[in-house]
Formats: sequence, structure tokens, C-alpha cells
Amino acid sequence: MMHSYLLASMPRHFPDADFEPPLVDGFGRRHSSLRLSVTDRCNIRCFYCMPVDVVFRPRQELLTFEEMERFVRAVVPLGVTKIRLTGGEPLVRHELHKLVAMLLAIEGLEDVALTTNGMLLAQQASDLKQAGLQRINVSLDTLRDEVFRQITRREGLQRVVEGIDAAQLAGFERIRLNAVSIRGLTEAEIVPLARFARERNLELRFIEFMPLDADRHWSPDQLLSGADVRRVLEAQFGQLVPAPRPDPSQPAVDFRFADGRGGIGLINPVSEPFCGDCNRLRLTAEGQLRNCLFSTVEWDARRLLRSGANDAELRRLVRSCVAAKAAAHGIGQPDFHRPERPMYQIGG
Ligand code: SAM
Ligand code: SF4
Repeated sequence: MMHSYLLASMPRHFPDADFEPPLVDGFGRRHSSLRLSVTDRCNIRCFYCMPVDVVFRPRQELLTFEEMERFVRAVVPLGVTKIRLTGGEPLVRHELHKLVAMLLAIEGLEDVALTTNGMLLAQQASDLKQAGLQRINVSLDTLRDEVFRQITRREGLQRVVEGIDAAQLAGFERIRLNAVSIRGLTEAEIVPLARFARERNLELRFIEFMPLDADRHWSPDQLLSGADVRRVLEAQFGQLVPAPRPDPSQPAVDFRFADGRGGIGLINPVSEPFCGDCNRLRLTAEGQLRNCLFSTVEWDARRLLRSGANDAELRRLVRSCVAAKAAAHGIGQPDFHRPERPMYQIGG
């Protein structure tokens, strides 16, 4: 018979019952980031995302805050440490700051960030700050009213700028602007946006237009690539200096201005796909799990959440989703198929 003191000092060759292996897909990519869409609704109608005559999902189809929290609590032990709240427009979801606080109470979750169009930010910035939100990205493609109207099919540029001001006043230090680049439409916006960002100490990122518009009008000749944007910036501000890449999974290639004032990120999903380093999963507002923006398959987490499934079952679903992830989105390849869902129904 083996003495108990001997047993206690022996190395453990059996797995810990609580140990959860990380979420690694078939290409060795470890998944640690979840984009959580909290609604498909929005208060504007960007043409590259929504149709004009959009029909939103009935409220009861959307996950409740409690369901979202339950899902996140189940996946944090798998190594998911970062959440980005998105939509639709996340700030149209009533009392979003309460969700932020619920998520930040989950042990092991390191970072909760928000992507917003900024229209409701002035009213909500201080509640979000108090709830512990760490970072905000504000989408802003132009500083001209007529172009804003053309893109969003609504008024509201001034409200967005006021939202950015309010977020800075509320104490958010890392506010980033996201601008979609579209050939024939936004070339003249590049330099004014860069000046605006430099004056206010904001990071600015340009994102290539992707084939996720509800109207399905995207075509390759609308591509204003990151390289094109870089040329415009360098003609005005001098050579951009490549910046270190602290997180290899970040979608943007970062630069600093030569005079040291401000930074620029270029997100080039179409001209230079970064799928090889992707660490992201997405949960739609009605609880469908996706392993890619361009995924054509989904895993139904809501069904599990609403049928009394336990955490182990939820985690199995997440593992199946990760295991099935394709190597790359395949835009431009002959066998590329757009997903059924446009951007606002996924969560960008
Ligand atoms: N409503 C919020 C907003 O606009 O920031 C969050 C959701 S929105 C879908 C997230 C981001 O996706 C925004 O920065 C938006 O500009 C970007 N986006 C939407 N449709 C896009 C497309 N077809 N190509 C590239 N970016 C797109
Ligand atoms: Fe709304 Fe954001 Fe889509 Fe624009 S990009 S319509 S703000 S969800």
C-alpha cells in the first residue's frame, strides 16, 4: 500500500478536472478575443452596412444581458480575455453600461472595449467610464456634413464630434477613430481626418471597404487600399514611420507621423488579409457563434443558453466552432461566397 505522503509528493500525470485547453484551431491560431454584438439596431444607415429599409429582429430573439454574461463566463476559462461590444449600434441597447459592469465582474476577463458610431456617446460616456469600460473606437469616415449624409443617410456629424469630446472629458484616454475607405468617395477625407485626430490626440485607423454591405453593391473597383491611403498621408505629412506591433493578432499595421505627433493604423483585410494571425470569434446579437466575419456557417449558442445547457455543453459548441475555422476569408478567390448576413447583423 502506498502512503498518503508519497502520493502527495508524486508528479501528477492525470489532467486537472478544471483544466481547459485553449481554443486553438486547425491552423494553430489561439482564440482569445470575442466580438459581442448586443443589437442589430442602429440609429443611422451606413450604405456599406445596412439597407435603407432595414427590418430589425424582434427583441425576444436578442440575447439578454444575463445570457451574454453567462456565455462569456463559460468561455473565459478557455482563454478568452478580451471582449469588444459591437452591433448594430451598441449604444442603442438600453443601459449598456450595466452589461459592461456585469462583464468586468467576471474573473479572468481582462479587457472590455466598445465600437460605436458615437451618436449617443455624449449622453453615455461617463456611465460607461464609471462601469469600467477601458477603450472606445468611434467610427467616423468624414468631417463634412454632406459626405456624412451620403454615407449614413442620416444627419448627425456634430453629435459624433460631441460624443468624442464627451468621451475625452469623461477620462477615456485611448479613443480611436475608425474610417472606412471607399474609392471615389473618401479620398478627400483622409487628410482632414488625420489633422483632426492629431489635434485631439486620437489614434486613427483606416479600414478597407469589405463585401459586407446589405445592398450587395460592393465591387473590387471601390477598393481604396491601405497603400493608397498611405500615399495620400505621406504626400501631406511626410514619410510614415512603422510602429512596433505589440499584439501580433491586431488587424492594423501601425505607423507614427514623422514629427512624432499621433499615429495611423491601416486595416487592409482585402488587399493584405491578416487571417493567419486571427484570434477572433463573434457572437451575433441573437446568439449565433461565428468563427469569421465571412463565415457561412454558425453555431447556435442561444438554443443552448435557452434550454438549460451546462457550461461544458456551451464550451463544446465553442470548440466545434473554432475547430471548423477556415484558413482565410478568401475574398477575391474564385470560390469566395459572401455570407448571407450583412455587417450590421454580424458585428464588425
Ligand atoms: N455601429 C457601430 C459603429 O459603426 O462603429 C458598431 C458596428 S459597425 C458594423 C463596426 C465597424 O464596421 C464600423 O467601424 C464600421 O464603419 C465598419 N464597417 C461596417 N461595414 C463595413 C464594410 N462593409 N467594410 C468595412 N468596414 C465596415
Ligand atoms: Fe450602424 Fe455601425 Fe452599420 Fe453604420 S456601420 S449602419 S453605424 S451598425
